[in-house]
Amino acid sequence: MTNPAPPAASPELARAMDGQATRLAHCVHCGFCLPACPTYTRLGDEADSPRGRLHLMAAVVEGRLDPASPAFQTHMDRCLGCRACEPVCPSGVEYGYLLERARETAAAARPASAASRLQRVLPAVMASAPLRLAFSAGGRVLRATGVPDILARRLPSRGWASGLRLAMGMLAASRPEPHWGEQLPAAEPNSGQGGQGGPEPGSAGRVALLEGCVQKGLFGHVHRATRRVLEANGWEVVPVPGQGCCGALHAHGGDLEGARTLARANLDAFAGVLSGEDGVDGVDHVVVNAAGCGAHLADLAELLEGFPDEARARRLAGRVMDVTEFLAGGGRRPRPGAPLPMVVAWDPPCHLLHAQGVAEAPLQMLATIPGLRVVEPEGASECCGGAGTYGITHPELGGRIGGDKARSLLALDAQVVATANPGCQMQIGASLRMEAPGGSVPPVVHPVELLAESYRREEGP
Ligand code: SF4
Ligand code: SF4
Repeated sequence: MTNPAPPAASPELARAMDGQATRLAHCVHCGFCLPACPTYTRLGDEADSPRGRLHLMAAVVEGRLDPASPAFQTHMDRCLGCRACEPVCPSGVEYGYLLERARETAAAARPASAASRLQRVLPAVMASAPLRLAFSAGGRVLRATGVPDILARRLPSRGWASGLRLAMGMLAASRPEPHWGEQLPAAEPNSGQGGQGGPEPGSAGRVALLEGCVQKGLFGHVHRATRRVLEANGWEVVPVPGQGCCGALHAHGGDLEGARTLARANLDAFAGVLSGEDGVDGVDHVVVNAAGCGAHLADLAELLEGFPDEARARRLAGRVMDVTEFLAGGGRRPRPGAPLPMVVAWDPPCHLLHAQGVAEAPLQMLATIPGLRVVEPEGASECCGGAGTYGITHPELGGRIGGDKARSLLALDAQVVATANPGCQMQIGASLRMEAPGGSVPPVVHPVELLAESYRREEGP
């Protein structure tokens, strides 16, 4: 039986309740997801658990709860969107899908406030190419001064300054870490087996690389490392003119129309390079090195479900692969690099582990680096507290979750921390600085940077 949706509920959330296709009704209220939820384990409130939030969504859709009510607004807003509740759910509840639609409904019912405006700033900047360029350039100049690193360690952790402190820590953590390889013993040139005579770029095939927004603006060094590793393994990285922000930030915040606009721009851009699109002899794989973007693109057909672009979205989604998955699978030729005799702490991003189900590939890729020892922190599968601007909009809870992650990483005494999403790199880097304000903290890098460093050392200066 179809439940009539109240006028304030979004048509999409109402549709999610319809007939056999209902997603909300899949929840059998077993509670298996509760221990996996970082907000529930911290707050102990059922309404801050996945089960509780699904109950609130159903109440809104069935007209029993006003979407403007503090209960709906607060508990939807307090969710990290980490999707740790999905893989543990025996009923296969698609929580991430439902949350995005619930947030669209919550945003439509909410009166404008300073906090809601703040949450819209970053997505709005990333959606506009000129604003994105200006924001990124300003960020790179500011972080090069070293001031953000100082402020992240010295600003007060409470009151008005706590959000600024986290923002500065995040910016500081986005800085390329040119010195982390210098703590290693000097490599003997060509100490690996494949330095000379490796595959020619293009001999293995061609791939496209998603550039994204934050990744392109602040993590160009990760893109350079990705290209270097792909080319060293025989892949040509073809340019994709016109590509931009994937829209993940917009969708997570409930701005589904904004996310669709950005998705369509990327569908147009990638149509020129995907094989099979209008006879194009192009690429079969779109490699992504930002887990949040990869998870969003993998779900693109659902975002455009029922729209004329759905088939195109499905084709693009089917080509998306995280770079670690690509290299651990058929994308990697047997090309060992030089040893990296160091300990790396691997912390998997939620949108790689929970949303994309990629667990082993990063470890398999790292295991190919001679001499590298990989350790994992306690609670590795738990969110770092990043979740877009969560740490700034929820300083107390975000700080607790981020602090727990930083302490478990520091306890490992690793020389480097690796994770595979720009938001996680920034959040973890900021949390480490705030947890150890007077000391040195391990740099946070993308795992592909470790592989690139291994190749670089093999090839010699
Ligand atoms: S584990 Fe799944 S079915 Fe059980 S309460 Fe959580 S969401 Fe519902
Ligand atoms: S997405 Fe994360 S924070 Fe939100 S309900 Fe699921 S486990 Fe909890």
